[in-house]
Amino acid sequence: MSLFNDDLFDTDEYSVLDNLFLPYKYILGEEISRKIKEFTIKMKDEDERLFDVLRRELSNWLVCDKLLENDIKFEIDDAQSPVYESGICRYGQYSPLEKKITLFIKNIPDDEFAEIKASTILHELMHAYFDCCLSRKPDLEFIEEPLAEAGMLDFLYQCNGRSFDNVLQRVAEKEKTSCIAHYGFGAYIHQQSKDEVGTLYELYYKILHKGCCIDVNKFIEGLNEYGEYKKIICKPSQDEKKYELLRSILKKVEKECK
Ligand SMILES: [Zn+2]
Repeated sequence: MSLFNDDLFDTDEYSVLDNLFLPYKYILGEEISRKIKEFTIKMKDEDERLFDVLRRELSNWLVCDKLLENDIKFEIDDAQSPVYESGICRYGQYSPLEKKITLFIKNIPDDEFAEIKASTILHELMHAYFDCCLSRKPDLEFIEEPLAEAGMLDFLYQCNGRSFDNVLQRVAEKEKTSCIAHYGFGAYIHQQSKDEVGTLYELYYKILHKGCCIDVNKFIEGLNEYGEYKKIICKPSQDEKKYELLRSILKKVEKECK
């Protein structure tokens, strides 16, 4: 009889949790949202749980144990006044000094709350990955930001959640906003990495990996073309010329890194 009661209790609890984590099922797919549910029993805070599961899944996907081994902190900033950068509301940040990810929860719009929360945590985890695993260099911002977006999109793409296209579209639209155009470039890298051999994505990775053993800052500063890339990426045009130029720049970088 007690077994029957236990079963009943479990069923009830799971139906409540099913509702609680339904939005994550659409963005992260069946498997990961099930893992978040399993974690519920041990960890009561929903955001901590989401962060913990995403960190595990991303480090598996990137084959990077350091992302798990490093003490990466996570906090929710629920201050009412919005946090801005370049006139745009920020959803999150990664601080390499404190090794801490902060989510500015009040900046996230209600209608896409779960999607943006999950994709922002993944984006910031990509920065933690560059920091802990690839010897992050701050001067590589214009390379790292698109790659963080691309990594987040690539990860979500393989999760096979039904709302992936919404996230992709949201990132792609950043291309049209001059101050954050380099983020929109992440959508392009993601799309390239799906169907091209020798993609920009791979080139970026090579540059970042090489960052562990060469003075990338000095190298990048020496490239006049890098300054040109910054100018172009801040003033997006309707055509794809900036991408062609960037591709040629990165090929030069790759050649030099060999
Ligand atoms: Zn970022």
